[in-house]
Amino acid sequence: ESEARETVLKEVEEKGVKFIEMQFSDILGTVKSVAIPSSKLERALAEGIFIDGSSILGYATIDESDMRAQPIPSSFQIYPWTHGTNMKTARLLCQIYDHCGNRFKGDPRWVLEKMVEKANAKGLEYFVGPEFEFFLFNLDANGEPITKPSDAAGYFDLLELDRGEEVRKEITLKLDEIGFDTEASHHEVAPGQHEIGMRYNKALTVADRIMTFKLAVKTIAKQHGFYASFMPKPMFGCNGSGMHVHQSLASEDKNLFDDPSDKFGLSKEAYYYLGGLLAHAPEMSAILNSQVNSYKRLVPGYEAPCYISWANMNRSALIRVPAGRGMKTRVEIRNPDPAGNPYLQFAVMLAAGLDGIENKIEPPGPMERDIFHMSPEERIQNGITSLPANLGDALEIMSKSDLMKETLGSHIFCHYLKIKNDDWDSYRTYVTDWEIMNSLKRL
Ligand code: GLU
Ligand code: MG
Ligand code: MG
Repeated sequence: ESEARETVLKEVEEKGVKFIEMQFSDILGTVKSVAIPSSKLERALAEGIFIDGSSILGYATIDESDMRAQPIPSSFQIYPWTHGTNMKTARLLCQIYDHCGNRFKGDPRWVLEKMVEKANAKGLEYFVGPEFEFFLFNLDANGEPITKPSDAAGYFDLLELDRGEEVRKEITLKLDEIGFDTEASHHEVAPGQHEIGMRYNKALTVADRIMTFKLAVKTIAKQHGFYASFMPKPMFGCNGSGMHVHQSLASEDKNLFDDPSDKFGLSKEAYYYLGGLLAHAPEMSAILNSQVNSYKRLVPGYEAPCYISWANMNRSALIRVPAGRGMKTRVEIRNPDPAGNPYLQFAVMLAAGLDGIENKIEPPGPMERDIFHMSPEERIQNGITSLPANLGDALEIMSKSDLMKETLGSHIFCHYLKIKNDDWDSYRTYVTDWEIMNSLKRL
């Protein structure tokens, strides 16, 4: 530990870092940050810094608001986009402690740490590889983003048309400079929509990276005069933005999902893991699709899932098992979106999958047909149920879930439901343009 601190101090000195952002996540996954000058870093590394938890969403009440953010030396990362010697900035992620000196139960990172420990105790390592879709939007005369996409290009289109291409490439380069290991990037189906894939790694490492990833995308887009948005469905009639998550478990450095002797090359554990994800999909929805707007993406016809099934190839399924076996064997869950809290998202998916393995939950067979074109009767015959239709339903189902309560801990479970139910109520009672458009003159 003290050696790790020394390394950080040395790097700050050698690379001329001026500021350190001490960061942590609120309950919704928003990065919170306190900047300290590098001269104060040694003390911060030793003692942490004190924060007022009562002003952080989903943290604490006024009477127990004194908290300590303790930086994790291994999370040290210099920001690749702060140029110039006077501003060089780095980040350190923190673990939060309550006023009694215990790990604070409202810290989302702690939820994932606990879940990963649980898997580790069984000799398992959880790997995730997320694919991020997002839009680049233009700014109006006041510099405010408007839902006018940066271009009119489409899937895999190349330059000339694709003004966002330059931005995307710069993001990729900058992220690789700090070892974030981005995979392929391309223009997505909708105008102004892009995708950047992140190479798989341990879940905590990836969630930590996502905290900075979103910031990097927004910062670099801004430098090019665009606004990058991770809103799940910003434009009616166009594809929305998902965060597909490729997942696997390893046991003693071997991929636990791989079994060449099986018809589909999948092990018993892979099927049970799938079974767990499918069985708990409705309960997890409010975490994986956390926004009122999330559910406008999950409708037929836009490559986003709305029915609960799995398949080897078919992209209308909730879970797909992509080609590639051996170390590459994995399942890809397609409903999560990039607007959620990645710590909680990974934690609940791991919990669901492990529950599948523990309770030997058999999934139904793969459904290779396009479910969007099935009649409701055919879906019933094939045992295909739906994801919750809106945030209100999703919260209702989550509120009854023991698995979610146990995984999130009662602090986050209760605060999350409260915050999101307030959101849902505020939306539910709002009179929308659609209603005015369709009813005002008719009624
Ligand atoms: N944009 C689609 C979604 O909402 C996914 C498209 C794809 O298959 O990459 O999930
Ligand atoms: Mg995509
Ligand atoms: Mg995908």
